[in-house]
Amino acid sequence: MRWSRLFLPTLREAPADAEVASHRLLLRAGYIRQLSAGLYCYLFLAQRSLRKIERIIREEMDAIGAQEIYTPELHPAEVWKESGRWQAIGDDMFRLKDRWGREHCLGMTEEEVVTFLARGELRSYKQLPQIWYQIQAKFRDEPRPKSGLMRVRRFTMKDSYTFDIDQAGLDEAYQKHYRAYCRIFGRCGLDFVPVDAHSGPMGGSESCEFMVPSPAGEDWLIECRESGYRANLEKAVTVARSPERPDPDGNGPPEEFATPGRRTIEEVSEFDGLPATSHIKSLVMVANGKPVMVLLRGDHQLSAVKLAEQTQDPHVRPAHPEEVRDWIGAPVGFVGPVGCHGVEVLADSALADRRNMVAGANRTDRHLRNVTPGRDFSARFLDLREAEDGDLDVESGMPVRRRKAIEVGHIFKLGYKYSESMGLRVLDQRGRSIAPIMGSYGIGVERILTGSVEQNHDGRGMSLPVSIAPFEAVVTPVNLKHAGQRAAAERIYSDLSAAGVDVLLDDRAERAGVKFKDADLIGVPFRATVGRRVGEGIVEISIRRTGATENVTIERAATVLQRLIRDAAPAPGETNGPP
Ligand code: ATP
Ligand code: MG
Repeated sequence: MRWSRLFLPTLREAPADAEVASHRLLLRAGYIRQLSAGLYCYLFLAQRSLRKIERIIREEMDAIGAQEIYTPELHPAEVWKESGRWQAIGDDMFRLKDRWGREHCLGMTEEEVVTFLARGELRSYKQLPQIWYQIQAKFRDEPRPKSGLMRVRRFTMKDSYTFDIDQAGLDEAYQKHYRAYCRIFGRCGLDFVPVDAHSGPMGGSESCEFMVPSPAGEDWLIECRESGYRANLEKAVTVARSPERPDPDGNGPPEEFATPGRRTIEEVSEFDGLPATSHIKSLVMVANGKPVMVLLRGDHQLSAVKLAEQTQDPHVRPAHPEEVRDWIGAPVGFVGPVGCHGVEVLADSALADRRNMVAGANRTDRHLRNVTPGRDFSARFLDLREAEDGDLDVESGMPVRRRKAIEVGHIFKLGYKYSESMGLRVLDQRGRSIAPIMGSYGIGVERILTGSVEQNHDGRGMSLPVSIAPFEAVVTPVNLKHAGQRAAAERIYSDLSAAGVDVLLDDRAERAGVKFKDADLIGVPFRATVGRRVGEGIVEISIRRTGATENVTIERAATVLQRLIRDAAPAPGETNGPP
């Protein structure tokens, strides 16, 4: 295509409110424009890139026998009421009424709709397994849309759903997706990590998230190089570092001491001269409408996700100061497990085998020393804390590290939640009516683009992998007034076009410097520069990512570029297993 005829509105400056690189660059390079919070228009370049991503997704989904379907983005409330999620999901769901006052919502995921579809159609085990997928808009009224396309209120998802007769079938469908996802992200050129994940309100058991490590991410992953352990922070289980100071010897009973005005671990620790690791942090929480005391080592943080899972209450919350006073009889800052009756006590497992620690005394301005878990109070010991940098890996005993990452995809074994709640049943081999077992699998199409920009940019702009860059090559005549340059550029451009390369001809009447800058900004992987040496029949090929250049003859230019493009983009089936 001829650049002079395209609308590619590049900007010199990034808007001040764009914090992450992909947001800045997608705006500056003229890929996207904002309509309102979390709603974006995709201009020509973004659309080309997203279509390439979708094409890779389609090829790999088709390759595992998935069948593409399309369902409406607008859903009647009834199906969501059947599964119970009309009530369970809060403000994230866009809800609206039609002219007759009937309730609807905009689809944020499609388990209900595909289960509705399957229940009307599937009758027998002979029709299973099924894998259905679509690439379709999803709507979520995110509380904080941000970072450009990373967290938006309307995005494109590849979502697929599997129906199987038994667990073994589901395991296979899940593995197929796992491998397809590795190929998809590999072909899109992402450096990605599959991690063990928490499945959240989706229900179900096993799940895996595909993470793209990047400081711009909103998720954390915990990993150990030695053992290869990787998990989402929400689920990661690690061994805590040893306490800073060994516990004192002795079997004395708990002993009260005055801690006037010292409420936080930091304050008490400074006052008694003992490290945070010698203290017990006591938190009063409310789970299922009842008080629960949660104990952690002083330096540890509670994992809200783990607590929600352990208490089976997704809405578990800290108690208000008045509730703490009513239930425990002491103000926040001085509560502790000793003598605290009638309240369930959950202790993090890092407190097992400890002794003679410091905890709140359940009296204003008082703490206790010589508190030994198990002897001075009883508790259920569970994994409740958030893993942190420097914890030790369970298997290798080596330190783990914590990195930020962007979630690009997620696969879940749903189990029977939807087939059972919505009455999807088929006849098995013996003629019994049974519920099929389901899986659900998502990919955020825009997240692949943003993740890729985050991983592939420099001071000059984007350097997207050739497989998803909007154009594969640009031909840049340095001086358009020069007839020889014009002719050579036209020739290379038409050779490449004829060979099916996505090529741009920068035929704008701009200075060469401006053309180079723009091509680097929008991230064209390869450039043929037609300049002064055209008289000798020579042009220069350059590689955006490395800056490497090579002189070639005009005749060979198209062939060399085609080879570079082919070598840089893995073909279907030839990538890149999990890293
Ligand atoms: P997150 O934790 O980031 O909110 P999620 O767990 O809600 O994601 P899923 O419901 O598993 O996401 O959706 C599947 C995929 O859709 C995600 O892996 C992600 O790539 C993408 N996605 C989810 N929410 C958004 C959003 N608001 N904007 C863009 N992409 C999104
Ligand atoms: Mg979400």
